[in-house]
Amino acid sequence: MQSALAMQPAESPVNVLIVGVGGQGVIMVSKVLATLCQRQGYQVKQSEVHGMAKRGGSVFSHVRFGETVYSPTIPLGEADVLVALEWAEGLRWLSYLKPESGIFIADTQQIVPPFACRDRKHGAGSGYARESVADVIAQVANCYAINAGQIAHELGNTKAGNTLLLGMMSTTLDFPADDWREAIRMFAPPKAIDINMQAFDRGRDWVETHNPADFDPGQGIEMPIPVEEVAHEVEFELPVINRAWCKRCDICVKFCPERCLSLDEQQIAVLHAPEMCTLCRICERLCPDFAIELKYRN
Ligand code: SF4
Ligand code: SF4
Repeated sequence: MQSALAMQPAESPVNVLIVGVGGQGVIMVSKVLATLCQRQGYQVKQSEVHGMAKRGGSVFSHVRFGETVYSPTIPLGEADVLVALEWAEGLRWLSYLKPESGIFIADTQQIVPPFACRDRKHGAGSGYARESVADVIAQVANCYAINAGQIAHELGNTKAGNTLLLGMMSTTLDFPADDWREAIRMFAPPKAIDINMQAFDRGRDWVETHNPADFDPGQGIEMPIPVEEVAHEVEFELPVINRAWCKRCDICVKFCPERCLSLDEQQIAVLHAPEMCTLCRICERLCPDFAIELKYRN
């Protein structure tokens, strides 16, 4: 089914900006899109920045395609589609969207960076973005926001959240769905292809079922398009520390904003004050040895 939002490159290139943080699969989304566009016969230019990706830093990729594309970077206010794999990263790039027609596709999942907790007193809020989905709808022409990470977890692999967003994005570009699936198969890990296919279909179906039934392509899109605001606070279990993997570096202890971690007599990290833990996941992200894990609560 062709989506009401479908667009095709005309005289000027189509600009898609993909943003997120390290480990979310921004580059995979970008490669799938660039490969697909190339296979459709378009000239494609792609640029990306992922310097601090392994430490949860910002990652972004510009993809431009059309009959002729001269520059790999999207000018301010010229993105047709902004795909955000992390909520605050999406907000940081909103000014790149075309004001009248830009489409914002976002995961409402929040990954709070350590610097947002800098100078934080116990019990105080973090410096993370406070805008709600409703606030963002007021700023952009088109918005699709969904908790992709949580849905991907329900499908069996949290990392497939990026493919769910690809499914949502696929409704905005007029390429056959099977061509999208083929491109995803080229970049998804072999053992995760089934889940990625399911995630792609979930994202695509979600947008298509949320298009206004009486949409008239000649009249533009009535806004706001319905938004599924799944609760931001995904429920996690308390952090579990793998003592065999802990290298006693003390990083988690130093960065825990609630001071609920400490080193025991063997200098191994322990959660000494579970009642203080806010499940922020900062310790999990910063542990260089992957010794800390917060599992989703089923
Ligand atoms: S950050 Fe990881 S390796 Fe370092 S003390 Fe904490 S659990 Fe151990
Ligand atoms: S998840 Fe809990 S233990 Fe880990 S950094 Fe956040 S508050 Fe501290």
